[in-house]
Amino acid sequence: MSIILYAIPGFFILIAAELIAEKVRKTQYYRLNDAITSLSIGVLSRMIGVLKALVPLTVYVLIFQHLALFELPQTVWMWIAVFVLYDFLYYWNHRFGHEMSLFWAAHVVHHSSEEYNLTTALRQTSGSFFNFVFFLPMALIGVDPVVLVSVASVNLVYQFWVHTRHVGKLGVLEWIMVTPSNHRVHHAQNEIYLDRNYGGVFIIWDRIFGSFQEELDTETPIYGVRKAVHSWNPFFVNIQVYKQLIHDSYHTKRWADKLRVWFGRTGWRPDDVAAAYPLQKVDLQQFTPYDTSITLSKKLYCVLQYVFTAIIGVYLMMNTTTLSIPHQVAIAIFVVCASVNIAWIMENRTYAIWLEWVKSAVLLAGLVFFIGLSHPVVLLLPLAVSLSLLTWVHAEHKHINVDYAPLEQAKPNA
Ligand SMILES: [Zn+2]
Ligand SMILES: [Zn+2]
Repeated sequence: MSIILYAIPGFFILIAAELIAEKVRKTQYYRLNDAITSLSIGVLSRMIGVLKALVPLTVYVLIFQHLALFELPQTVWMWIAVFVLYDFLYYWNHRFGHEMSLFWAAHVVHHSSEEYNLTTALRQTSGSFFNFVFFLPMALIGVDPVVLVSVASVNLVYQFWVHTRHVGKLGVLEWIMVTPSNHRVHHAQNEIYLDRNYGGVFIIWDRIFGSFQEELDTETPIYGVRKAVHSWNPFFVNIQVYKQLIHDSYHTKRWADKLRVWFGRTGWRPDDVAAAYPLQKVDLQQFTPYDTSITLSKKLYCVLQYVFTAIIGVYLMMNTTTLSIPHQVAIAIFVVCASVNIAWIMENRTYAIWLEWVKSAVLLAGLVFFIGLSHPVVLLLPLAVSLSLLTWVHAEHKHINVDYAPLEQAKPNA
């Protein structure tokens, strides 16, 4: 965990570099609403990940302590071997993440953006409750939990930089490593690119197991998923497929189908449910990404609120050993609610503005409770800036009298 926390400043430096590249090269790979959604989902995922790591880690440690077959030596070669083995297991975990509904329900979050930039890398699920089973063989062969967490973190950190459209093909590296080009294919919904390139660090697994597809000059990737989420709400993005699966397994008549909804191939639906509740299919020929339009004041306000929320989320992650469980839960609920409300502002929902006043009051009370009144500048300055911006947002929102924004047709995907 700590490796990922320490990597966060590096992530933001690279995002800043990519934004500079965006200006210099006049590309349009970023949209503020999409980027804030990706970043919010990233904060939630890390925060929930820390809180829910207890069960998988306990199972892993119990197997390691009681059933491990070998005692591995602490050598460089052991670390390298474990790193490669982890990536092999990651490949299968990721492949099931796409090919079985139960796992896709969690992994879909990472693919829910219709843009592709470094913030997309941080769009990670909060709902992967079962994926740890793929890595239990490592406990059996005696991989120390600390080694496992370390290689898993390095693997995840590596995957960050490949989420960019600014790097082309990388020659011989394309044969061995996951690169921006072959990972763009992985995020594309074009027929030829679907369910390809599952590797985490090494692309060799895809070449061995027949799931590799090269990025083609004639086929520009269209990013996102076939059943688009059409929302900036990080909570909804996390539950959308679970909701669909619960719906389908509840409504289908046959008991076998109720199970197959969860354990069958992703996208499979029972005939009776598919007939009664048809899903709209995306037309890739006329694809336009989901978008909404908001005023400058709202944009500034959303960025500021995202920064505050992220700081509170990171504070929680860094203090899990000192904060009591009720405090951790209270902060986590605040971060989730605050993130959802940022999404509602970006979706131009009127009640979101009123909820911001409530949130500001809760935040003030919380800050006084946690920090006390000994640091008035830390407390009052951000809050004063935040409230003045909120007043501006509120006045402007009333003036333009928008309610729930209609979907705006955005630029075609680049
Ligand atoms: Zn994937
Ligand atoms: Zn990715």
